Amino acid sequence: MKNILFAASECSPFVKTGGLADVVCALPKALVEHHRIQAQVILPLYDEIDEEWKEEMEFVTEFIVPLGWRVQMAELYHCIVDEIDYYFIHQPYYFHRKGVYGYYDDGERFVFFSRAIIEALPYLQAQPDLLHAHDWQAALSIALAKILLPEHPMKTILTIHNLKFQGKFPIEVYDDFLNLGSEHMSGMEWDGHINCLKAGIFHADQVTTVSPTYAEEIQNEYYGEGLDSLLRERQVMGIINGIDVKQYNPLQDPYIDVTYRSSRTRKVQNKLLLQEYFGFEVDENIPLYIIISRLDEQKGLHLLQPILNDFLQEKVQLICLGTGEKEFEDFFRSTASEYREKMIACIGFDEQLSRKLYAAADFLIMPSRFEPCGLAQFIALQYKTVPIVRETGGLKDSIEPFNLHTKQGNGFSFKNYNAHDLLYTLKYSLSIFHDEENWSIISKNINRFHFTWKTSAAEYDELYKQLCTEKELAEVY
Ligand code: ADP
Repeated sequence: MKNILFAASECSPFVKTGGLADVVCALPKALVEHHRIQAQVILPLYDEIDEEWKEEMEFVTEFIVPLGWRVQMAELYHCIVDEIDYYFIHQPYYFHRKGVYGYYDDGERFVFFSRAIIEALPYLQAQPDLLHAHDWQAALSIALAKILLPEHPMKTILTIHNLKFQGKFPIEVYDDFLNLGSEHMSGMEWDGHINCLKAGIFHADQVTTVSPTYAEEIQNEYYGEGLDSLLRERQVMGIINGIDVKQYNPLQDPYIDVTYRSSRTRKVQNKLLLQEYFGFEVDENIPLYIIISRLDEQKGLHLLQPILNDFLQEKVQLICLGTGEKEFEDFFRSTASEYREKMIACIGFDEQLSRKLYAAADFLIMPSRFEPCGLAQFIALQYKTVPIVRETGGLKDSIEPFNLHTKQGNGFSFKNYNAHDLLYTLKYSLSIFHDEENWSIISKNINRFHFTWKTSAAEYDELYKQLCTEKELAEVY
């Protein structure tokens, strides 16, 4: 049975700031459930983690973590949840803080975390056959494993969840906290900085990302965030994420008013209640569009700015739920105040409202400039809401545009990053909504799509097998 060690800076249900936590939670579970895999997960022990969880943890040992010219102490804690071994690195100086990221010394904090992963290896219940690290915060552990443990047979995979975040720090971080000698500098440096993600990409046995299209895109300059040449050399592989279909289930969602499986009539009840709640005209024949998103330029919101007025001339309703950059918060607020009777801007993060919106809406708008995988379009499909997306990354891999001739497709999409193409697609979706026959076909089509973790876990399992077979062969010869 293969033993995989997952290293990451967040994992549900312990600590979550984004989609990474969902992946690091769901992937080991799916592997243990459906494949012959033993999973261990290693995380920082943040102050944020609930006391309830901390009470479950047992002290394993205390150990030394060399950090350049200094040494730090760390404690290792352990608990088992659903057959998965979770390990936590405890170091109050670095992790006893409010929140998870955003500190001036994040470089030092995650160099420490990565080095602590390597130093903790002897104390784990089982020696991993493979270290699977996620994103820049854990990427250095791969480089350190290769440099400090050259004889160790453990294979390594780095998964990139968003190339935009690379963990770039001043070059002095190298001598100050890593101090591995000048011969290893080039594997960690990029553009005059220490770049943690680059170090992982350079050293990993395999680099993966979270959708096949994003894997291709980041090997090109436009999407490559400065690392495209290295990514081309490393031949990145894309494996699309899944979602937890138990968590996002309109039949059992406690937050929604009328639960449903695939009945349109029951789903529409949610829309009528929400229209009433927000003071919109209550009419099932008016399509309800939603946006649920971080308000960040990545999400393609610049495309909405020039065309939203035009679109709101139509008989449509729009609810936008999001928080983020002020420019977009202001834009949505001011447009909503002009169109009070048909648009609402809810600025904030509200899980409960988001479920009500997925359940009530006819369409989800997601015109991302780039999208490594995306989760919102999967949730929309689960709630029988039709996604309207730009063909990029995971959106391209999960949404097939509705084709009037073949009657195939589970959404609407457009290719170029162009506002008028988005407007055209929105108007096209509106025409299909009012075309009873085609609307009923697309509504049926979306019932067939379920992006569960089972398929993705099988692909990771295959990759682990390939790499570990190489490892066994190397041990024989
Ligand atoms: P990203 O991870 O880039 O933000 P994803 O589409 O992968 O985008 O995941 C976003 C997740 O966060 C989805 O589950 C979405 O429903 C949720 N979400 C985003 N913004 C909000 C918000 N303001 N309130 C509630 N949920 C939100």
